[in-house]
Amino acid sequence: MSDTISEPVHVIGGGLAGSEAAWQAARMGVPAVLHEMRPERETDAHKTDGLAELVCSNSFRSDDAENNAVGLLHEEMRRAGSVIMRAADAHKLPAGGALAVDRDGFSEAVTASLEAEPLITVERGEVKGPPPEDWSNVIIATGPLTSPDLSAAVRGLTDDDGLAFFDAIAPIVYKETIDFDTCWFQSRYDKAGPGGTGADYINCPLDRDQYYAFIDALIAGDKTEFKEWEDTPYFDGCLPIEVMAERGIETLRHGPMKPVGLTNPHNPQVKAYAIVQLRQDNALGTLYNMVGFQTKLKYAEQTRVFRSIPGLENAQFARLGGLHRNTFINSPKLLDRSLRLKAEPRLRFAGQITGVEGYVESAAIGLLAGRYAAAERLGLPISAPPETTAFGALIEHITGGHLIADEGKSRSFQPMNVNFGLFPPIDAPKTIDGKRIKGKQRAIERKRAYTRRALSDLDGWLGAARAAAE
Ligand SMILES: Cc1cc2nc3c(=O)[nH]c(=O)nc-3n(C[C@H](O)[C@H](O)[C@H](O)COP(=O)(O)OP(=O)(O)OC[C@H]3O[C@@H](n4cnc5c(N)ncnc54)[C@H](O)[C@@H]3O)c2cc1C
Repeated sequence: MSDTISEPVHVIGGGLAGSEAAWQAARMGVPAVLHEMRPERETDAHKTDGLAELVCSNSFRSDDAENNAVGLLHEEMRRAGSVIMRAADAHKLPAGGALAVDRDGFSEAVTASLEAEPLITVERGEVKGPPPEDWSNVIIATGPLTSPDLSAAVRGLTDDDGLAFFDAIAPIVYKETIDFDTCWFQSRYDKAGPGGTGADYINCPLDRDQYYAFIDALIAGDKTEFKEWEDTPYFDGCLPIEVMAERGIETLRHGPMKPVGLTNPHNPQVKAYAIVQLRQDNALGTLYNMVGFQTKLKYAEQTRVFRSIPGLENAQFARLGGLHRNTFINSPKLLDRSLRLKAEPRLRFAGQITGVEGYVESAAIGLLAGRYAAAERLGLPISAPPETTAFGALIEHITGGHLIADEGKSRSFQPMNVNFGLFPPIDAPKTIDGKRIKGKQRAIERKRAYTRRALSDLDGWLGAARAAAE
């Protein structure tokens, strides 16, 4: 082994992302040191000293690789030799179409695999400050509960809005499910703004009765509680919508639902009493977020209450709202396409701290970061997965696909699960006699077209990476 290759990749954090990253580097022949602070220092959610501990649910969500974006991501990870998927498959429990796992068996299997891998050294202990200068190739995968000292160090490496400690998530809707017989495109006062056209928002009008009924439903809706260690992280600029509603029945009409500067082309003589606005969220233009609608309402309540908004009766949500303790960086601004910190390229980020959401997504970004770091060590070109794959769609979202908007104190970049709205759009295939497939079947065929294209492109990418390594 040459001197350069004997120098390890240092992976900080032995969670879902860090474990996968170390594994991938080792599979490519590059040594990795995995630094995990537990059991020396605990987090508020972890309960064991195992690697890749699942802190809450034991589900990896849908395992349907043909019709579901996270099922597709499972399959892509399996094809890329993921240790996380191997352990999950070996410890799966009956759960219908979902992949649920025995959490202890799963974590023990990941720990055993990594400890048995000669190129991986697991070092227990907290990395407190900026990674030492002589670590030339580092992956920071310390997750939503990154220790305070390392968080402070990361903040020092970025800028004021570089690191967030809570997410404040507004729901995101698939544009194609919005009813444009009711809604319309217009920016307030037709202002174009930087890069805008004057018609950048989708507007949903409410009359007086609809508005009052909506406020009542918000206040009455079931909310999720904060964990006792989360404190209540309300800060100006991103109050949950239901908290604003509780402050007075007209409060939202003077805030995110104000009806001014907008004219409904479907009914120009009638002024709306309140308006919900949605703003484009991704460069592809497939996803729109509900402006100012961060919320602690339970998911089922969100779907019910938000579908009472005119024009959103049939809305499908790519992401529902939330507000949680979470540590994540402003990746679209700070990271390059290979997940390196632009300001200090020896440092890569992986996992939930990059602004993906969920066990599987975190592990997937770990998988890519591990491969990128190892490729760099080996002097190989870093090739990003095609954006038509679930891997590529996620990377694209965190490093470029999301459109950053100025929202005062709250950042527009918020964590995201994988979903088909992040993929370049594709038409549903036609019938053999060239006709459009209609109704529900069309949506099904479209998903299958996404997943077929993804897996075929993934195989090409993996094949090219194998050839480059030989
Ligand atoms: C309370 C809670 C519940 C969640 N529930 C779910 C859920 O049900 N389903 C789901 O899909 N996602 C859930 N998530 C979101 C997320 O997917 C998981 O947190 C996931 O584990 C993230 O993977 P990760 O590898 O980025 O971070 P983690 O799995 O948290 O791994 C990070 C590791 O870094 C270690 N670490 C932190 N700081 C340091 C340091 N300075 N030095 C060394 N080691 C350090 C930690 O001990 C930890 O082992 C939840 C998150 C939280 C906070």
